[in-house]
Amino acid sequence: MRNLLSILTAKTLIHAIKLTKTGSGTNLPGKIALKISPHLLSYLVKQNKKEIITITGTNGKTTTAGIIASILRQDNRKVVHNQRGANMLTGITTAVAESSSITGKMDSDNCVFEIDEAFLQRAVDEFNPDIIAVTNLFRDQLDRYGELNTTAKKIETGIEKTLAKKPLKLILNADDPIVSRIMENSAIEKVFFGFEELTLLNQDEKIKAPQESVNCSCGETFNYSKIFYGHLGYFHCTCGVKRPQPHVRAKATVDVNSSTLYINDEFEVKVNLPGLYNCYNALCAITIALSAGIPINTIKKGFENYSTIFGRAESLELNGKKVLIQLIKNPIGATEVLRTIKNDENGKLFILINDNYADGRDVSWLWDANFELLSNYSKTAIISGVRATDMAVRLKYAGINPTNIIVEENIQKAFLHALDNVQEHEKLYVLPTYTALLELNKIITNPSKNFIR
Ligand SMILES: [Zn+2]
Repeated sequence: MRNLLSILTAKTLIHAIKLTKTGSGTNLPGKIALKISPHLLSYLVKQNKKEIITITGTNGKTTTAGIIASILRQDNRKVVHNQRGANMLTGITTAVAESSSITGKMDSDNCVFEIDEAFLQRAVDEFNPDIIAVTNLFRDQLDRYGELNTTAKKIETGIEKTLAKKPLKLILNADDPIVSRIMENSAIEKVFFGFEELTLLNQDEKIKAPQESVNCSCGETFNYSKIFYGHLGYFHCTCGVKRPQPHVRAKATVDVNSSTLYINDEFEVKVNLPGLYNCYNALCAITIALSAGIPINTIKKGFENYSTIFGRAESLELNGKKVLIQLIKNPIGATEVLRTIKNDENGKLFILINDNYADGRDVSWLWDANFELLSNYSKTAIISGVRATDMAVRLKYAGINPTNIIVEENIQKAFLHALDNVQEHEKLYVLPTYTALLELNKIITNPSKNFIR
C-alpha cells in the first residue's frame, strides 16, 4: 500500500513539474516517494527481467549510459534509465517510479543506472547490479570526494556488498591505473576495455590534456609508454604493476566532431560525438553491450540512434543559431572540450562558472585546465556565472586579449548577448558548470523566452 501511494505521489509530482517547467525536478519526486516508502526502489527494480547495469566513474557516465540504453532498445528491450543524469538514489527512484505503472508494475528488460561514484555503496542496498562498469577516475570536486584511491575503495565496497548476495560482472577501463586495479585480488569476472592506437585528424597531436600524476600502491609514480589523455594510457611501475591486456581493444580515428572505432580488428563503429573522451565512453558502452550478448549489428544501430542528453555535448539550434553545450567540471574533461573548440575557426565562446555545492566549491581546477589552447582565439568571449571574474582572469593568463573578454554575471543576460553575437556561419560553444547548466536549461525551456528551436 505504501508503495502504491508513493508511486502515485512521485508520478503526480513528475507530472506537475513537467507542467510548470520548474527546473529539471529529477530528484524531488524520488525524494518524497522514498520518504513514504523507503524501499520503493528495491520493490520496483526486483521486477526487472534481464541485466541491471550500473555505470559509475568521474567522467562520461551520462554519455555511456545513454549509448548503452540506445543499444539495448535497438535489441527490442524495454529499458528503464535515469537519463537526466540525476545519479543519486532520489534521481534513480524518480526514473523508476516514472516508468512503472500506477499499480506498481515495472515492465522492463534492463535497468541502466548511472550512479555517482560516492553513492554506489549505498545504492546496492536497494538493488543488485549484474554489471558494474567504471569509466575512469579523475580528480573531480576534490572538496567533496577526496583522493582517487578513496573513491576507488568506495566503489569496491559497493561491489563487495553486491558479491555477498550474488555474482556480477565488472567492466573496467584498462588504460586507467586506478580503475583497472579495482578488485585486483578478487576472482570476480572482469572485462577490460582499452585503446591500442589513436589517430587524431585535423588536430594538433602534440596537445595533451595535463597529465595528472598518479601513484602506484607501492608509492612510486607510474611510467607511461603511451599516454592517451590525463592519466589514461599504457602505464607500468617498477614493482611490476602494469596495464592489463584488454578483452575489448580498439583503434580509433578521432576527428573534430566524430570518430571511428575499430574493435578487436573485427568490426567498425562510427561515433557521432566530438573528442577523444567520447571514444572512451563509446568503447565502454560497446564492452557492456558485448558482455550482455548484444549482436554487433545491433550495437552499430544503437550508435546511429543515439542522441545526446541535455548539456552533455548537446547540439541545438536556437533562433537559427548553432549552439553546442558541453558541461565542464574538471580539468581533464574541460581540456578535451577546449581542444575541440581550438580546431573550429568559426567557434565562439560562452563560459559559465558557478561554485555551488553541486559544482564543487573550489574553482582552482580552472587553472589546471589547458585554456592556453585558446591563446590564438581572437573573437569575443562572454563569461558568466558566480565566478565569472575568476574565469576572466584565467583567460587573460591563457593569453586571450582582455579587450575580447566580456564579463556579465547574470546568466540570462549573458546568454542572450552571446546568442546575438553569433553569426550564421558561426557556432556558439557553451561551457557551463553543473548548476550553471541547470540555470541555462531553465532559460532555454522557458516558453516566455520564445526561443525558436
Ligand atoms: Zn608499483
